[in-house]
Amino acid sequence: MTANLLEFDLEGLAVFCEGLGEKRFRATQLFRWIHQRGMSNFDDMSDLAKSLREKLKLHAHVAALPILTQQISKDGTIKWLFDVGSGDAVEAVFIPEDDRGTLCVSSQAGCAVGCRFCSTGHQGFSRNLSTAEILAQLWFAEHFLRRHLNQTDRVISNVVMMGMGEPLQNYTALVPALKAMLDDHGYGLSRRRVTVSTSGVLPMMTRLSADCPVALAVSLHAPTDALRDNLVPLNRKYPLDELLSECTRYLEKAPRDFITFEYCMLKGVNDQVTHAKQLVQLIRRHAALGLRCKFNLIPFNPFKESGLLRSDDATVQQFAAVLLDAGFVTTVRKTRGDDIDAACGQLAGDVKDRTGVAERIAQQRAVPIQWHAATSSFDTPHT
Ligand code: SF4
Repeated sequence: MTANLLEFDLEGLAVFCEGLGEKRFRATQLFRWIHQRGMSNFDDMSDLAKSLREKLKLHAHVAALPILTQQISKDGTIKWLFDVGSGDAVEAVFIPEDDRGTLCVSSQAGCAVGCRFCSTGHQGFSRNLSTAEILAQLWFAEHFLRRHLNQTDRVISNVVMMGMGEPLQNYTALVPALKAMLDDHGYGLSRRRVTVSTSGVLPMMTRLSADCPVALAVSLHAPTDALRDNLVPLNRKYPLDELLSECTRYLEKAPRDFITFEYCMLKGVNDQVTHAKQLVQLIRRHAALGLRCKFNLIPFNPFKESGLLRSDDATVQQFAAVLLDAGFVTTVRKTRGDDIDAACGQLAGDVKDRTGVAERIAQQRAVPIQWHAATSSFDTPHT
């Protein structure tokens, strides 16, 4: 079996080239051909010695993921469904804007975290993607888009690891992929323009800050442990105070001087003014210790299994006003690609659940979750 060269960051490729008896600098040339020029045919890599090209043909290949579907939204958003074998498929989404092009990349086939409002979480978990499978999404999208738009310059300026999966539960494969994105001989993206989104895998946040500090987004979604335990089950292991302390530590190495907190607005569940005030209290306590953050309020994209509803616009605005009045930068995310189910929280490839997560979430779903204003409590017991 030959090696897929998308599996390597530049250092990994240098080691591979040394294994073929070649000098390390050959890896830089090869890396550029693959990632900057989108080439997969070694015969086309004209400045590589013929002897190296022959060795590469024997021992290596560069393979994209087979595409199952491509959908283009009326707003220009493009969603691809990639086949990763054994009945699993993952999605990536390109979101064009005036000043940037963002690719949302998947890190796992399914997800074991099981967030209640997330369509991937409801599918359960099959397996981690390899580095090659993560990078292949960017490699394909960048070079497809250059051809599609008939341009030679870079199209994708930002990558967000916000597709299917919890990236920090696939750390070993994630980091080389991030390094290839940042490498000047690869995609040359700035650390500020590569964002890892996590539900709060604390030990891996610590490691990421040391190994490859990129911008960080944290899925918060609730102002109290009682509610977050229910919406983001990982909170039972890593509760809010520990999570926010880790966010503060991460800032010492982060390329941006703030953490983005994602907050999905769920009607009657976490969207009341009381919640916003609780959130202000919580964050102020940590801001006194050095935490800097921005809030990104995300309109929920309902899917039938969730049993949850989208907050109405007025409620979202009221919630945002409380945060803004308290001095926190707060934006409401514009929904993109919802006519092709490409909006936030809607990604759901085809996943064979091998863990029973899907069944567990289905049981949780049977229990209604509702905020009771009179008693300031929720009627959903911990599961
Ligand atoms: S929101 Fe992220 S961490 Fe939670 S289930 Fe979905 S993919 Fe997993």
